[in-house]
Amino acid sequence: MTQVIPGSYIPMIRDGAVNKAMVFDSKATKHSPFAGSDQRRPLQSGLQEAGQYHELQTAGRFYPVACVALEITQRCNLDCTLCYLSEHAEQAKDVPLELLLHRVDEIWACYGAGTTIQITGGDPTLRPIADIEVLCRRIKQLGLRSCLMTNGIRASRLYLKRLAEAELDDVAFHVDMTQERNGFHSELDLNALRHQLIEDARGLGLRILFNTTVFQGNLDEIPMLCRFFAEHAKDLSLVSFQMQAETGRGHEAPRDDALTQARVAEQISKGFGASFPSAVGIGHSDCGQYDHLLVAGGQAVSVLENTTWIARVVRALAAADTSGHAVADIRQMVLSAGVRNPGLALRGLLEGIRALWQIRRGIWQAKGQVARLSVMIHSFMDASALDADRCASCVFMVMTQDGPLSMCAYNAERDHYLFAPQRMASTQGHSWWNAATGAVTPEPTQADLQPPAYKHMKGRMRVQEAKRRKEKAL
Ligand code: SF4
Repeated sequence: MTQVIPGSYIPMIRDGAVNKAMVFDSKATKHSPFAGSDQRRPLQSGLQEAGQYHELQTAGRFYPVACVALEITQRCNLDCTLCYLSEHAEQAKDVPLELLLHRVDEIWACYGAGTTIQITGGDPTLRPIADIEVLCRRIKQLGLRSCLMTNGIRASRLYLKRLAEAELDDVAFHVDMTQERNGFHSELDLNALRHQLIEDARGLGLRILFNTTVFQGNLDEIPMLCRFFAEHAKDLSLVSFQMQAETGRGHEAPRDDALTQARVAEQISKGFGASFPSAVGIGHSDCGQYDHLLVAGGQAVSVLENTTWIARVVRALAAADTSGHAVADIRQMVLSAGVRNPGLALRGLLEGIRALWQIRRGIWQAKGQVARLSVMIHSFMDASALDADRCASCVFMVMTQDGPLSMCAYNAERDHYLFAPQRMASTQGHSWWNAATGAVTPEPTQADLQPPAYKHMKGRMRVQEAKRRKEKAL
């Protein structure tokens, strides 16, 4: 069989292996090989080579990766205008559970306990919930953390309760205007849906996160959205703003020159009424910006403003870190650093009082209730402009059968990874799973993809076909 993916490269099978020479150099998009047992070392050296391993850098110093995506389906019940999936992605069958469990084990082997696995897709809720329960339990058993990334359409309270019982840790809701949900005409309208999702997830022991894709169409509404998040901060853990990137099947107008990280940071700062971002590093600065806020009665203040003090804290925590190789135990490090250095602990107390004083009116209004909220901007790269430095210091990886890979690099060549024959262990040695047919065979077979029927088309392909049909009808 021959693979026919119009507009994409053609994977070839040679001696049972995909000919990778036909795609860009995927080695450059992975972390450098692990050395010894230091699981932080690959990220650390990537950041060092990129000149990003400064005194306020936490990535590679306290954790080997921020999170690893585990894509359990390519199907989705939406068709976002900035979707990162490929036009052929939904022709891929769901990856068999045994392969997914193997990938979970690989994540553990690469990054160690404490690492967060983002269970994602497509929309992962389209897969049977029993599969997700099995994955969550396995993740917990290995000492890893799980986060379900969903658009929330199928994530009812009952559904989330089942997953919480299966030891899911976090739920991240992706909600924004790129999703073109029926009946919602602005981010302000979507707040009703966000509110409902918070209600559905609260009190189940899950951390609640929100993801918002930022594009020209909602840039002006970012301050309003931040005010919404500030009002609900007691129920939230992290809000992430993801910059429009030219990758995948999205068909939104090209990114406006005015849409920069600095501009989005300005809007976030305006919305929370607090400085944003901090100088604390959570990876390459072109990839992510971060801050941690204290929020009360709609008022917010950053706790990471004083960089001299934060640099001292980072040094003290590093000195108190006894694990030194995988995800650090922050609580243990803070306690131990405080005991070793009472002067620093006292300074921390004063910093806390200073921050609380700045939001005293809000604290009064909220009757003393103060919430903590992490805020970040994440900037994925355009598929046609991958930066090797950023790929090598990537903190958001995806697990493939070839090992962990930078999410940006994966998105740029998604079909290659999706439709390459997947090796499965079996009693007879191994067999091969074909993502296009779902067949398992003793020898690898190539995917043979035809363009999907019009009703199954998504993204750019659907838009172009609709235009062609319209022109033909005229
Ligand atoms: S996924 Fe892309 S933008 Fe995100 S950290 Fe990795 S390289 Fe940077």
